[in-house]
Amino acid sequence: MGKAASPCRIRYEVIPKDPNPVSIRVLDPRVAQQVAAGEVVDRPASVVKELVENSLDAGATRVEVELGDGGTSHILVRDDGSGMSSEDAPRSVLRHATSKIQAVSDLEAVTTLGFRGEALASVASVSAFCLTTSTGDGAGTKVVVDGGDPAKVSLTAHPKGTTIFVDRLFYNVPARRAFLKGARAERAAILEILTHLGIAHPSVAFRLAEKGRDYLSLPAAQNLLERLAQVYGVAKARVMRPVEYESGAFKISGYAALPSVTEGSRSCQTVAVNSRWVRAENLTRGIDDAYRATLPSGRYPPVALRLEVDPHRVDVNVHPTKQLVRFSEERAARAAVGSAIREAIEWRPPPPSTVPRPTERPYTQERFSAPHAPAPDYARVAEHRHDYSPPVRDLSEVRERLAEASAPLSGATPEAASKEQIDAPELPERGALPSLEELRVIGQLAAGYILVEEPGSLWIVDQHVAHERAILDRLTDAEGDSGLPTTQALLVPEVVELPLSEAAAATEHLEELAVYGFEAEPFGPNSFRITGVISTLAGRDVAGAFKEALAAAKGTEPGRRREDHILATIACHSAVKLGDKLSQPEMEALIRDWLTSHLPATCPHGRSICYHIGINEVARKLDRH
Ligand code: ADP
Ligand code: MG
Repeated sequence: MGKAASPCRIRYEVIPKDPNPVSIRVLDPRVAQQVAAGEVVDRPASVVKELVENSLDAGATRVEVELGDGGTSHILVRDDGSGMSSEDAPRSVLRHATSKIQAVSDLEAVTTLGFRGEALASVASVSAFCLTTSTGDGAGTKVVVDGGDPAKVSLTAHPKGTTIFVDRLFYNVPARRAFLKGARAERAAILEILTHLGIAHPSVAFRLAEKGRDYLSLPAAQNLLERLAQVYGVAKARVMRPVEYESGAFKISGYAALPSVTEGSRSCQTVAVNSRWVRAENLTRGIDDAYRATLPSGRYPPVALRLEVDPHRVDVNVHPTKQLVRFSEERAARAAVGSAIREAIEWRPPPPSTVPRPTERPYTQERFSAPHAPAPDYARVAEHRHDYSPPVRDLSEVRERLAEASAPLSGATPEAASKEQIDAPELPERGALPSLEELRVIGQLAAGYILVEEPGSLWIVDQHVAHERAILDRLTDAEGDSGLPTTQALLVPEVVELPLSEAAAATEHLEELAVYGFEAEPFGPNSFRITGVISTLAGRDVAGAFKEALAAAKGTEPGRRREDHILATIACHSAVKLGDKLSQPEMEALIRDWLTSHLPATCPHGRSICYHIGINEVARKLDRH
């Protein structure tokens, strides 16, 4: 031990009393600006977002972003927008200086992405900032601001548009600089933001480059689908379903992928409200509602939605970064997004064809027909090969491939056909389904797979998964025609025994499970007697369903996920199993229920339900060339 002061010897320092104590000071404007800047820019990605949104507001058709070390050493944003006059340019870096609104009332109908007049002032206060701009007539203007110092203005040459160079971001705010992640993480965040902005503004060309390497190159696209093809690749874009929906105050358009096409993170979902890319919790929830019970956890289908709403009904001034928005009718917004996507991805019978079908059919055995309208001609779709292709960068290649993918349908003009195909992308191989009106159940293979013949092909359907899909559909679709299954008393009550440790906790969940049709009561110290279940479960694996529903109730947080989990469990145990021998009418009923369910192409856990073998393939195997 050194000569440390003994703990009991405390030194009191006598501070002389200030005759005029001042503890509240008005901050130096520069310090105030640097503090406030933190609200608008907290990392390179937020700088890029603000600068690119300014370029979009200026009507740019091309926006280029160049980075040094993922934006941590420098960021350059160049556009071909309107540019600024020599009078406006120095003003643009002043705090609360904007050309976009004049009065608070303007906020109610703001159509530009910016309006707070804070971004340039904020960025300029925390970096070595240089703006060069020109309106295209006369000389350009250069405005240099170092860490919030007064601007130095000079004349310079610049084509029409604006270039902003942000050097050494946060060099004068060490605490903030310390929070920056590595170049790779910052670059990834910038790439994500530019991708979202690219999807929200398809007609604008975007490029992101660093050290001569392109990280993103999106040529101007003719429409949203073409932009999606550039971002996700042609194969994925082709399986996105068009969304077209209007309800009350909301008009929604765009594309949504079938649940069989997913990505590993939510960053593939873009929502723009009145052309502003936003992150709004309720809209995200609306997307989740639509895909409810169709996805394995942690998977997200690509979605690109444009929501139009009267600007008076949405508040965009909720947060300095303007990414959050608030609707006057939050719940209606969520419901509208949910319904819009659901309508797009659900199976829908197409309008009856005006072309009469040939009356002569090569089948003698009776077919059962769809209860409603005829099913779409999925068989043609299924013939198509879908290879995954990496994102395509070159525009002409994208157009060519989209055109190639949409070979004209016989009878239609090439233009009409290609438009129809681009507008209504085909289903992926996994999403392909037999057509209900044309099929015939041939039999069962290994008591597990139902063999279905359709003109020109053989379908092999996993009986358990197809049945599970059909049942879950009934369980979750309370408003559907079929109605929720009713509960049914069991002829012979089933007694389920649990380990003693679990039995006590199980009693607490009996009331909740009753909501799902389980009529159960304690029966001895560690047993339960089940006297009634939902009708789909009667005669099936009642005990298994009860145990798993209990585990789902115990192991999941209350809310929608829990409900989905319990319903999926019930559907799984209600469904026929691999190994269950089925009669011809049972198989036909199963196939019909499955194909008329809302999302027949996807199993609740994201597994494949069926696959098909074309007659050509059979012929090839048998050497009939
Ligand atoms: P806001 O976008 O909220 O108006 P900013 O600080 O981002 O505030 O920009 C201030 C002003 O500078 C804008 O209102 C606009 O007039 C002008 N400006 C900024 N960036 C550009 C640009 N790239 N092209 C043309 N004008 C711009
Ligand atoms: Mg702005």
